[in-house]
Amino acid sequence: MAGLLVVKVHLDWTGPAHYERGVSLPCRVCGTPTCQRDGQGRACEKTCAEDEIARELLGTGRALIADERVPTPAAFAGGRLATAGGPQ
Ligand SMILES: [Zn+2]
Repeated sequence: MAGLLVVKVHLDWTGPAHYERGVSLPCRVCGTPTCQRDGQGRACEKTCAEDEIARELLGTGRALIADERVPTPAAFAGGRLATAGGPQ
């Protein structure tokens, strides 16, 4: 089974907790100096946090696609689902 999954994460970091003026620390993801802070107060660029979440969601989504719990039309046509946990 093939599948396409596109994940785009956009975080709202407009709040003051996501910026520490004058304190530049290495981003916890890429090491680039930044004044931005993540939700736990750790130095992190917004784009790095968004990419991190997107990668995690992508991995979960790909696993669900690979799981193939949604029957394909071929499975119905072949009668393989007649006794697969459904009404008999
Ligand atoms: Zn970064």
